[in-house]
Amino acid sequence: MTVPLVKKQNVTILGSTGSIGVNTLDVIARHGDRYALHALTANSDWETLAEQCATFSPKFAVLKQHEGVPALEERLLQAGCKTQVLSGKDSLCAVAAHEEVDVVMAAIVGGAGLEPTLSAVKAGKRLLLANKESLVMSGSLFMQSVEQAGVILLPIDSEHNAIYQCLANGAPDHAKGVRKILLTGSGGPFLRKPIESLAKVTPNEACAHPNWKMGRKISVDSASMMNKGLELIEASWLFSVNPRDIEVVIHPQSIVHSMVEYVDGSLVAQLGNPDMRTPIAHGLAWPDRIESGVPGLDFTDLVDMHFEAVDLNRYPCLALCQQVAGQAQSYAIALNAANEIAVQYFLDELIPFTDIPIIIESVLEQTSCEEAHTIENILALDEEAKHRALQKIRAR
Ligand code: NAD
Ligand code: MG
Repeated sequence: MTVPLVKKQNVTILGSTGSIGVNTLDVIARHGDRYALHALTANSDWETLAEQCATFSPKFAVLKQHEGVPALEERLLQAGCKTQVLSGKDSLCAVAAHEEVDVVMAAIVGGAGLEPTLSAVKAGKRLLLANKESLVMSGSLFMQSVEQAGVILLPIDSEHNAIYQCLANGAPDHAKGVRKILLTGSGGPFLRKPIESLAKVTPNEACAHPNWKMGRKISVDSASMMNKGLELIEASWLFSVNPRDIEVVIHPQSIVHSMVEYVDGSLVAQLGNPDMRTPIAHGLAWPDRIESGVPGLDFTDLVDMHFEAVDLNRYPCLALCQQVAGQAQSYAIALNAANEIAVQYFLDELIPFTDIPIIIESVLEQTSCEEAHTIENILALDEEAKHRALQKIRAR
């Protein structure tokens, strides 16, 4: 009997050199029979990209910044690697939408991921969404495009992936009978730190997350719980729920990745070790299941699993997100843009950690109530808010 040949899925990873990108390659490396790489992309880190190309032989490697292209080409030539090198934003969009591509992992950090991610959506690719900022910025445009193109959208953010699994793992009418969604968050490295001392924390302290190893921007967002606030907005779009029906719960151990409560009193949770390879493997294989390299939970180890309410005085960024969720798109765009600028300035040690919410709030105060239905519109509002945030920082 001949075994039928199953066509390999061609994958593009937007942001392959980052934390999510590297974890995605780790899962794919375990399943060479199922997946092939179409394209790997990075902003400027051509050295890591060259190593990845030598191992995975994608058809294309894209650098957003052109400067590293000659060095990357030279390195690939030396390694005898046939990967073709491209550069620039249009190339990122092209490898996301290429006709040979089946699956796109959207793992660029920040608003820079918006256009390439939307390009994958419009081309109808199966989309593994890690880049939460793109959905926060473009909400209804994003979800309309998903619907129009018939996209299979799998959330990779661990909480949203958990909620997806708790909502009958993507079955139709999944939202029937839901009373509320419980979005868990660890509270980050400053959960127990005296609030008065937060003005003095360093970028390295903010990036020392107790449970997850992630890129620096999302690590700072986790320390301020801006990450949870962005996730609240993300969840309301992904699952069409009213933001008021989403409750944030502190769970320092990051074992329960989120929960859904139903009207009959059932509470369905998804648990697992805090390792992004689990949601990545889920997204890659859905509705199948594949090995991710993540060991099962050892229940004898779980001596202490606890939950508590959020203190919004400690996490003003989360409070700002709660105000913005469900409001006109211009506010979410401004919040996200101002946060990106403020976090970068904090990482560069130019402003204190506690200035982040102050800058965002002042940008929001100057933002007018506006919907945004086109990409040009969204990018213009993003640009404007970034400009305001910079002005605010310079004035301090
Ligand atoms: P990271 O900083 O480790 O990696 C970011 C990737 O994007 C890199 O490959 C980088 O080269 C690329 N990139 C950066 N700026 C770019 C630009 N201007 N243009 C094109 N490419 C650019 O970030 P990460 O931790 O992997 O996070 C990626 C996304 O996934 C973020 O949106 C984050 O919120 C989300 N996410 C991450 C985790 C995690 O565990 N790391 C969990 C949930 C969601
Ligand atoms: Mg998350």
